Amino acid sequence: MSGNIGYFSNESVERVRASTDIVSIIGRYVNLKRSGRSIKGLCPFHKEKTPSFFVSPERQMYHCFGCGAGGDVFSFLMNYLSFSFTEAVEELASEASIKLERTGRDTTRTDVFREIVAQAQSYYRKQFRGNAGAAARDYLERRKLSEKTVEKLGIGWAPHGNTLSAHLREEGYSESQLIESGMVLRSTQGSGVYDRFRDRILFPISDRRGRVISFGGRLIEESSTGAPKYMNGPDSPIYRKGDYLYGYRNAAKASRDLDMVILVEGYFDHARFVDAGFECAVATCGTAISPPQARQIGALASSVLVCYDGDSAGQRASVRAAEIIMEQGYLPEIIAIPQGQDPDDYILERGGESVLELIGRANDPIRYALELLGGWSSVTDSGKKVKVVKRLVEIASSATEPVIRETMLKVVSEETGYSMKTLELEIREEDSKIRKPAERKLKGTELNRWDSRILGLILLSREGLSSPMVDFILKDDLHSESGARIFNEIKRQADSGMKFFQLSHLEDNDSSICARLLTVYPEQTDQADSERLMKAVEKDRLRRERKQLKSQLIAAEDEESKELQRRIREIEKIEKKYYK
Ligand SMILES: [Zn+2]
Repeated sequence: MSGNIGYFSNESVERVRASTDIVSIIGRYVNLKRSGRSIKGLCPFHKEKTPSFFVSPERQMYHCFGCGAGGDVFSFLMNYLSFSFTEAVEELASEASIKLERTGRDTTRTDVFREIVAQAQSYYRKQFRGNAGAAARDYLERRKLSEKTVEKLGIGWAPHGNTLSAHLREEGYSESQLIESGMVLRSTQGSGVYDRFRDRILFPISDRRGRVISFGGRLIEESSTGAPKYMNGPDSPIYRKGDYLYGYRNAAKASRDLDMVILVEGYFDHARFVDAGFECAVATCGTAISPPQARQIGALASSVLVCYDGDSAGQRASVRAAEIIMEQGYLPEIIAIPQGQDPDDYILERGGESVLELIGRANDPIRYALELLGGWSSVTDSGKKVKVVKRLVEIASSATEPVIRETMLKVVSEETGYSMKTLELEIREEDSKIRKPAERKLKGTELNRWDSRILGLILLSREGLSSPMVDFILKDDLHSESGARIFNEIKRQADSGMKFFQLSHLEDNDSSICARLLTVYPEQTDQADSERLMKAVEKDRLRRERKQLKSQLIAAEDEESKELQRRIREIEKIEKKYYK
């Protein structure tokens, strides 16, 4: 996270936090159960069988003892759905009907890149509408995309040559800014830059607030130089491919209304669904679906449909996508597109009404996979039967939710006639195989006891950031680097007038450290605790000073050495008198 306090006033952020219940928000994505005084569930950030993920309603924090993930309600959305801090605040504010007060411009480093991409978008739109865009408009007309859809998606045109670079240079951006934004590339011959997108129709990719952050581009003519048909913007300070779904913003509303979300592969598949009135479609931007994308989809609606190309690559990819979605705790269905077609062709050929028919044909991942193999009745060879059942159980085993697992196993049992008992033995074997997932490496989320005590007391004090401890403690009182970093952030927030500490402004690991502190530290802290700690800190300061003086003593000249020794004796006296 950057250093600034945020785009919204502290009061608004506090209000959002106060009117949000972390248990109910996390409860949407994780099955939480009360056990004694705590609430726990299976951690959504690593694979586990026994719950080590704790949510504290009093502290409004979560912490996983398995992988060290932890934070507040904002960090949860940031980590689970890959939202930015601003997006997380906006999302929760809109749910709580809180009007956010803005504190003017976002002044983060990423601002300039948003500006550049926004400028690029309006430039490409202008090109599309002008003379240069005639061929692009023709092309879209031939593909029978309505003007309304083209407008809605904000489709643009990147003309031939390096016109965008020239335009943006004129606007005053430096070459290195333009390169970092991903919109231009450094020339391989000599100096200068050139446009990344040329002779392409551009689909703007937006973040969840609707701001354009990158593009996907398609050539409208076969390239004579072998350039790829599709090209995506690279990862940049404002865009990470695996974090964003194309079309998410429009789809979010439509999906909630319809309680359905459709996952497609391509930009044109997406456009076709939108054209047919199904704005609940989202697309992965030309890559396999990532876990955060799968969670975003699962969180949108209870019905999740995967609709990929009808060739064998598309079929394999759709089963793989279903597995990833099941790993994230959701159960998708897969729509079969006839061999050789993609959703775009299919709907275009049969008209918008065919979407409903497609949806009606959706099948759970097990039945879909079995269908691909020609159906169970076509498997006559015993050896093949074993192979097929093992594959189906493997698909079922990607489900992390026990209910989804059992449901899928039951389907396997119904379709193949194998008993549940056998299948359960088989899935257990499947679980013990490989599948040791790349767990989040614990990067030392433990703080030493001293620093934990100091930070714990500050963070847990009733007065929050106005606790006298905040003024009393100095950075040097903390013994570890992360302790000092966290304290610096506490100090900064206190100085800026915030009442309660906002974890989300910390680096990932530091934020986990704090969350852990807040979840595991003994409940009450009172006056006496603070006084005890202040005394201990004073003693520690003397100890450090004495140590430092002694090390100076080694290199000191006569006169100086006398003075140093005098001070050391003084310290030792104080230590004896007060701290023994
Ligand atoms: Zn975990």
